[in-house]
Amino acid sequence: MKNGLLFGTAGTPLSTENPQSTIKGIRRIRELGLDCMEMEFVRGVNMGENTARDVEQVAIENGIKLSAHAPYYINLNASDQQKLHDSRQRILQSARICAVCGASDVVLHAGFYLKNTPEKAYKTIAKQLTQLSDILRAANTNVTLRVEVSGKESQFGSLTEVLTLSTDIDGIAPCIDFAHQHAKGGKDNTYDEFVIILKRVEKRLGRHGLDNLHLHVSGVEYTDKGEKKHLNLRQSDFNYVDLLRALKDFDAKGRIICESPNLEEDAVLLKQTYMAMS
Ligand SMILES: [Zn+2]
Repeated sequence: MKNGLLFGTAGTPLSTENPQSTIKGIRRIRELGLDCMEMEFVRGVNMGENTARDVEQVAIENGIKLSAHAPYYINLNASDQQKLHDSRQRILQSARICAVCGASDVVLHAGFYLKNTPEKAYKTIAKQLTQLSDILRAANTNVTLRVEVSGKESQFGSLTEVLTLSTDIDGIAPCIDFAHQHAKGGKDNTYDEFVIILKRVEKRLGRHGLDNLHLHVSGVEYTDKGEKKHLNLRQSDFNYVDLLRALKDFDAKGRIICESPNLEEDAVLLKQTYMAMS
């Protein structure tokens, strides 16, 4: 059976032998029967080019697809010019090292609304992302920037904003974080709601959008302000079975990155649950 969805972890699996490294993590992903891994540059891009070349080699040998998560400290809507400059550099640096690793996608949190209206923030962030995408393409850095759906109301990145950016700007695509989406109001947790989301993706991005999904999945604890913390799937109310069912019914393709605290345990659970569906 051909499997159009790939399953992996956000970062090196916990069961990777110590001292852990990206390379050992890739080998561990393979041992676990998983398919992909998202390198976590969330506290900074600390991988050199030589290591990146080795990472690419090991990923190819093991048939593991790579992506990366850019540093958390990014705000493309910052009014402080230094902060804006640093945010842009962090994205470019992540993308460049990804290209050396053979990683195809960089996930990023685009920023915060601060005192701006959502419309104003959208314009500012769209302009920045257009420039960044142009810079990368001019340098032949073949990496897709994936703007993540945010988990808090104060944070830029509603599903609508992310899909609109992906429609408006070449080189931008969505990272749909289903835990974040659910954490904003407690909805989006039934089969019918998942179907609505997938239909919205198809309407905006066409079949190509459904064939190239990049998803984050985990359990989540939330308050009326949104995401509080990630949970393991079975300790949460997140309806991952119906999400997988909807993805299967749409014959969706792409990657599911598991961000549960137990990482590979839930990634394997997701993959096995999906594979058992007919
Ligand atoms: Zn994220």
